[in-house]
Amino acid sequence: MTFTEIIETEEKYGANNYKPLDVVLEKGKGVWVEDIEGKKYLDCLAAYSAVNQGHCHPHIYDAMVEQAKKITLTSRAFRNDKLPLLYKKLNEMTGYEMFLPMNSGAEAVESAIKAVRKWAYNVKGIEKNKAEIIVANDNFHGRTLSIVSFSSEEQYKDGFGPFTPGFHLVKFGDIEEIKSKINKNTAGIMIEPIQGEAGIIIPPDGYLKQIREICDEHNIAFICDEIQSGLGRSGKLFAYEYDNVRPDMVIIGKALSGGFYPVSAVLSSKEYLGVFNPGDHGSTFGGNPLGAAVAIAALEVLENEKLVENSFNLGEYFVSELRKISNPIIKDIRSRGLWIGLELTENARPYCEKLMELGVLCKDTHHTIIRVAPPLVITKDEIDWALERFRKVLV
Ligand SMILES: *Cc1c(COP(=O)(O)O)cnc(C)c1O
Repeated sequence: MTFTEIIETEEKYGANNYKPLDVVLEKGKGVWVEDIEGKKYLDCLAAYSAVNQGHCHPHIYDAMVEQAKKITLTSRAFRNDKLPLLYKKLNEMTGYEMFLPMNSGAEAVESAIKAVRKWAYNVKGIEKNKAEIIVANDNFHGRTLSIVSFSSEEQYKDGFGPFTPGFHLVKFGDIEEIKSKINKNTAGIMIEPIQGEAGIIIPPDGYLKQIREICDEHNIAFICDEIQSGLGRSGKLFAYEYDNVRPDMVIIGKALSGGFYPVSAVLSSKEYLGVFNPGDHGSTFGGNPLGAAVAIAALEVLENEKLVENSFNLGEYFVSELRKISNPIIKDIRSRGLWIGLELTENARPYCEKLMELGVLCKDTHHTIIRVAPPLVITKDEIDWALERFRKVLV
């Protein structure tokens, strides 16, 4: 099919819930992707941080192919020999003691909410069906019905009601508002330690620490959604490390599979994940041996190639160079690691289109923000290559 035929076919048959840039990708390797005409682009989105390890990483590829030759899916009706190895790897890397494997990020968020609610009733002793979870304005936790029920983005909810009750929105970064919402039914506080979809919004220093203190004081579960911020994107393994805290529950996905296969997980303790009994919750594909083998390899790549450190160091370099671009349309630049939000005073999409013509793929978020989040395997030379294009577009 030609470029035009591909786009026309997609538009004709596909539900219209995305508006992609008109680039048709066929191949990817490391930070580079290639379209059907052989033009190369530097990927500065990294599939929303799912390909932190770079496209088609050979170590993950090998693990996937080797596992696919043996067995791919057993269902959890039977055991498989790979899932326990993933648990061990996660335990060694993160220190958490219990895990719940799922597939998509939204499923893991749903699973965390279910665990916290059950904990609230069975352990904390909240009256049945009264549990409340505090969440932040401008959050992004996925697209299932219960999750969009507590979105503050009108478009995510419009036409999808009725919604799941039991959530309270507070202003992100405002600790006093959290305190004012706490009552005897508060079961959890769930936030993204850095809000990605909202435009790389970093809370004030000490915000997570204060949430931790409130949770300790009132016996409330502190849940961090690290699906996008985690696994090296922020320059730390987890973004919560910037505040020296330890959440009760951490949700990961995206880069957990390096982009090969949907794998997500809830990381927690026996206190919370111990509430599940056989039959309470499940997923046909969750914890399958193919996903587990891929996830182990994806985590190994993070360690072997020191991608967390690379994200920290090269993130500093990338942003310091971007800050040198002097143009009044740049309103703000926010960053942690290789995760940069370039906020403009005007619509960012035309700038993303110009960058695309020059060979850099970025995606605007919330209209005015260009999100720059390349795979963490990027080198300084490749950043310089991208910077040349940013300078051209932002003169
Ligand atoms: C992407 C994302 C999700 C949802 O993950 P899916 O795999 O798309 O369901 C949830 N939370 C955050 C912070 C995300 O970035």
